[in-house]
Amino acid sequence: MADRSFLSWPFFEDRHRALAVALEAWCVAHLPVDHSDVDAACRGLVAVLGAGCWLQHSGGERLDVRTLCLIRETLARHDGLADFAFAMQGLGMGAVSLFGSPEQREWLERTRAGAAIAGFAVTEPASGSDVAATATTAARVQGGWVLNGEKTWISNGGIADVYVIIARTGEAPGAKGLSAFVMPADVAGLEVAERLQVMAPHPLARLVLRDVALPEGALIGAAGDGFKIAMSVLDVFRTTVGAAALGFARRGLEEALARVKARRIQGVALAEMQMVQGHLADMALKIDAAALLVYRAAWVKDQGAARVSREAAMAKLFATEAAQEVIDMAVQLHGGDGVRVGSVVERLYREIRALRIYEGASDVQRIVIARAIL
Ligand SMILES: Cc1cc2nc3c(=O)[nH]c(=O)nc-3n(C[C@H](O)[C@H](O)[C@H](O)COP(=O)(O)OP(=O)(O)OC[C@H]3O[C@@H](n4cnc5c(N)ncnc54)[C@H](O)[C@@H]3O)c2cc1C
Repeated sequence: MADRSFLSWPFFEDRHRALAVALEAWCVAHLPVDHSDVDAACRGLVAVLGAGCWLQHSGGERLDVRTLCLIRETLARHDGLADFAFAMQGLGMGAVSLFGSPEQREWLERTRAGAAIAGFAVTEPASGSDVAATATTAARVQGGWVLNGEKTWISNGGIADVYVIIARTGEAPGAKGLSAFVMPADVAGLEVAERLQVMAPHPLARLVLRDVALPEGALIGAAGDGFKIAMSVLDVFRTTVGAAALGFARRGLEEALARVKARRIQGVALAEMQMVQGHLADMALKIDAAALLVYRAAWVKDQGAARVSREAAMAKLFATEAAQEVIDMAVQLHGGDGVRVGSVVERLYREIRALRIYEGASDVQRIVIARAIL
């Protein structure tokens, strides 16, 4: 059983503690699921998370970041794909939750019920870390917009029912000339051009847009606000990536503790060796430090702060890097079994890696922090 003592920290209210206990019981009953067909697994997970009412927390008028983080950390500890399925409903509809019109919010009802799957399409082949260089265009026409371009690395690409997409509307050069749109996946001209395979599989695709016509009402907020909208969404969801990393790290420590208690070398349990104990202490220390940063960022946002870029960047950077180190040590303490395909720590080792890249790579988080303190 992973350490739950953090739930007594003052960042939480009793409703958070109750939710953590209820979700833990739900996870024990429902997770992990079979990952052999990730599309089917994700569809199934969205449906079951919807039926369990957990997706109600993924979007809406007021996003409670501590709740998002507790759910992500708990799901990640049990099943990385369950965390992914939950997180994408929130990230995909994040712009609608924060800035959507009443009509756009109708999508939220469906994603929160588990009846529709969401995606967030920002990245392009030539503009990854540099969102301001977005090249996909949205041209204003009578009654709406026409979009052309290409998006890549889009999670849920291929199974999503709806995307929020960032495109250039040209009010100004760079970041100030972008806008955000709600785009149904079945719109004419949108093609899933390629499915992308990664080391910890989840649905992922490159999308091509050819003369995709969207109505006037598809625009989220005002034209030219797309970059600001995307960054506001990331302000919330970067902290939750840190929470997912925390869940993976806690599971890594849990697995390592069980292993070192059971495994005997030179007549003693590994757990009795001081050098092993030193590693375990470092793992626990990194996990607690990551948890403090994650729930600090979540708490600050929940207190009403308009932007928490520095806190969210610190939480994501530290928690993802620390989780990689914790999981690497968990693999090491398992010896050969640590790299055996199908072992829990082998899976964690693959699952943690991408978190240091997406929603802003670690060095991009360093830039955000440095800008804030300079
Ligand atoms: C599994 C996965 C899921 C994803 N899901 C989505 C999604 O749902 N929607 C979406 O829009 N995108 C998604 N992405 C894309 C992701 O956000 C980008 O991969 C990420 O922003 C990095 O962009 P890039 O891959 O083009 O790398 P690049 O921008 O080429 O960066 C590569 C590396 O260069 C370095 N670097 C870049 N910029 C700087 C800088 N300014 N200073 C110093 N170093 C720098 C960093 O080390 C960085 O890791 C996903 C990616 C992955 C791997």
